[in-house]
Amino acid sequence: MSELAGLRALVTGGASGIGLATARLLAARGAQVAVLDLDPSGARPPLLGFTADVADDASVRSGVAAALEALGGLDVLVNNAGIGAAGTVEDNDDEQWHRVLDVNVVGMVRVTRAALPALRASAHASIVNTCSIAATAGLPQRALYSASKGAVLSLTLAMAADHVREGIRVNCVNPGTADTPWVGRLLDAADDPEAERAALNARQPMGRLVGADEVAAAVAYLASPAAGSVTGASLAVDGGMQGL
Ligand code: NAD
Repeated sequence: MSELAGLRALVTGGASGIGLATARLLAARGAQVAVLDLDPSGARPPLLGFTADVADDASVRSGVAAALEALGGLDVLVNNAGIGAAGTVEDNDDEQWHRVLDVNVVGMVRVTRAALPALRASAHASIVNTCSIAATAGLPQRALYSASKGAVLSLTLAMAADHVREGIRVNCVNPGTADTPWVGRLLDAADDPEAERAALNARQPMGRLVGADEVAAAVAYLASPAAGSVTGASLAVDGGMQGL
């Protein structure tokens, strides 16, 4: 499939998990793809790797500028970099709240600000934000993370409204628990990782985790010309978790 031929894409957090699967799929469908990550070494050719910390505005501005210069412009921005946090409101202190909101929400804003001038010059401009089922599902033990993803959902709607007349579409994907190195790290920290993985799979309506490639396919659709009238949408890729 070459439905994304000629498009230039930038994927934050694109060196691992959902971001890496997305970067690879966009490239496989014909896009020229740059990855922006704290450590871009996981993004191998043909992906172009650039270093940036989305929590640092100067780092974002220089990383985005370098990526856009290499790409020669930008059509698709995938705001995917994010970090997790566990616990109720009593378990995370102010510093943790500021850190996670800074990466997961303000990080998206920083990258978007740096990318908007290039997106305005594109005839096929779109932004896809990685949100989460946590934005709407009321997950236990995820107060801070859920609040950050709730903000991503609202931000997606606001950005869709602000930029629709400039020809820039803005959508998000809401993954359920996805099989990525992030989840692997959580499982590895358990006393019995194998048993923990089996229990996690058993809690999923489909009896398995969501594949990173399945989330990537949703991102690729939202970024494609086929989704040309889709903006302000949130596409759940959660194996039926929503509403349970
Ligand atoms: P991951 O840890 O496998 O990959 C995240 C990538 O983001 C890493 O390469 C990391 O280096 C990068 N990153 C982290 N902080 C960064 C920063 N400050 N600046 C630049 N890059 C940074 O995680 P994943 O599971 O692929 O998650 C990716 C996104 O998907 C996140 O936004 C996460 O909230 C979301 N998500 C994940 C799941 C899941 O179950 N895995 C579910 C719903 C949503």
